Parts: sequence; C-alpha cells; structure tokens
Amino acid sequence: IALATEFARSTSDAQHSARRFALLASLAEIALAKMGATEMIDAILARVRDHFDAHKVSLLLLHGSRGSLGTRSVQRPEPARGQLPAMRVPLTWEDRLIGSLVLRRTQPIDIGEEETLALVADQIALALSTSGRYQFQAAMAVLDQLTELPNRRSAEATLDSELTRASQDPDALLCVALVDIDNFKGVNDTYGHEVGDAVLREVAAVFKAQLRGTDYVARWGGEEFLLIYRGHDLGRIQQVGERVRRALRQATVKVADGEKLSITASLGGAAYPMHGSTRDKLVVAADTALYKAKHAGRDRSAWHNSAP
Ligand code: GH3
Ligand code: MG
Ligand code: MG
Repeated sequence: IALATEFARSTSDAQHSARRFALLASLAEIALAKMGATEMIDAILARVRDHFDAHKVSLLLLHGSRGSLGTRSVQRPEPARGQLPAMRVPLTWEDRLIGSLVLRRTQPIDIGEEETLALVADQIALALSTSGRYQFQAAMAVLDQLTELPNRRSAEATLDSELTRASQDPDALLCVALVDIDNFKGVNDTYGHEVGDAVLREVAAVFKAQLRGTDYVARWGGEEFLLIYRGHDLGRIQQVGERVRRALRQATVKVADGEKLSITASLGGAAYPMHGSTRDKLVVAADTALYKAKHAGRDRSAWHNSAP
C-alpha cells in the first residue's frame, strides 16, 4: 500500500510538473508573439486564469513616469460569489519590486501552486523586459530602495491622480493617512541602525500584506508612511486605517539574543473631500491629526477634526 501511495504521489507530482511546464512554455510563446504590451499582458493573464481555474487574475505594475500602479485584470464574466480570497505574489526585476500578480479564486492555493505562481511572475517580468515593453529603469526610480515601497515622489503623483479621479465621482471618498513609528529614535539608539532598518522593512511588509489591490502605501519620509485608499463611508475608511495600524502591533523583529522587538505606530488620517480638497491640504490635515495622536499618548489613530 505504501508503495502504491508513493507511486500515486509521484505520478501526480509528474502530472503537476508537466502542467506547470506547459503553462510556462505557453507564456513564453505569448511573449514571443508579435502584439502590443496590453494585448500580451491580457493573453498571459487569461492563460494564468485558466490554468489555475481562477475567477480573476490581475497584474499591478508600478509605472515610472507617474509612480502609480497600472492594473490589468482578466476575469470570468459570471459574478463571484462573495469576496474571494486573494493570493498575491511580488513581481521583481533585478531583485527589486516592480509590481504584483494577484489571483482570486474560491479554492485555496496550495504550496505547489504558489511556487508555480512565483515562476509565472518571473516569466511575466522577463516577458516585459525582453520585449522592451515596460520601462524598468523608470519604475525603479520611483521605489524606495530600503523598503521597496513607492517613494515620496511617486506618492505625490499617485495622490494627484487619485484626487482627479475622486473629483469625478460625487460619492467617492479618498483617504490619506500618515503612519509614523513611535519612539523610533529609541530603536536606533538602543539596537543600532541595522535593526532600525529591519524594523522599517518589516513595517513595509505588514503594509503590503494588509492592503488590497487598489490601496496604496509609500514611504513618505524616514519612519513615516503614507496610505492612500478609497471608500464611500468615512466610518469604514477610518476602520481600514485602524486595522492596518493594529496589524503593525502584532509584527515583531528579531534582535540579538533571540529577543523580539515589537513596535507601535500612530496614524493621522484625513479624507477628501471633507478634510481637504488638494494634495497639500490633505497631507497637512493628516499631519495635524498625526500630531494629535502622538500628543494623546501614541499607539493610536486620530482623524482630522475629531478627538483621538
Ligand atoms: P515619535 O514617537 O514622536 O515619532 O518619536 P520618534 O523617535 O519616532 O521620532 P523622531 O522623528 O524623533 O525620530 C525619527 C528617527 O528615525 C530619527 C532617524 O534617525 C530615524 N530614521 C529615519 N530614517 C531612517 C532609516 O532609514 N533607517 C533608520 N535605521 N533610522 C531612520
Ligand atoms: Mg517622524
Ligand atoms: Mg516616529
């Protein structure tokens, strides 16, 4: 029986490898075909969707010139039943993050599939680069090298374009939240700059894991991050910020002697249109709220014009 089980397992492994190979080969074929960038991406995404029997597959790419994320998605025509779980893999080029591939389907993804998806992401990056259809240098110029998050310049550009978009929808709310690590100078002073850097990278990782496809986070300055996300209801918008901030409290960074360092952060939030109509006004409103959160004892959120 053991032998039969082993045989069955190796057969299914072999089938799995063969399917994976076929998928990667067909993606390479698409990449070599003569077509425009969008057409190529759509063809790749459709192939990936079919392979994984997914409901929706999206590619989020950082765009150099504006620092914003461009998104292409393919999905099945029938509506999904409820919110489907998402599997997200990073898209990297020369060890730097340039976007992510997000797959949504009812069934959970297993380890083998996760590996396949990572290979697919590599193949997409390769396809984009060899075809010269994506400006890698430009995209990298908008990324902060320590955290691999978009940098401040790209956050400003993104906020501008999000504001333009929000101004065209009378029901849209746009949230701008500044998240600042509490007593970070103390971390550097006690454990050293290296540990401080590790904390910043961990904070960035938590943000990436917490945020959904259309949400945006950037490294705004030293230990300050800017979140941008949309909504329709101020209460909900505030909850999202608070959820992300609480997730940070769960994160730990290993320091010498196996000691685990935990961190807290304060959040100051403001929303368009009620708290400001321009980029600068919104950021100032968020900063004022952040000051309030710090002043009230840190490790909390505060919103413009509201008690912390
Ligand atoms: P508060 O709770 O009021 O925010 O206190 P704080 O100590 O976090 O604030 P403060 O602005 O005094 O200190 C921020 C520190 O962040 C100072 C600076 O040395 C550190 N910092 C900024 N950028 C980096 C970085 O890239 N790496 C490391 N390790 N530290 C950084
Ligand atoms: Mg600060
Ligand atoms: Mg701080």
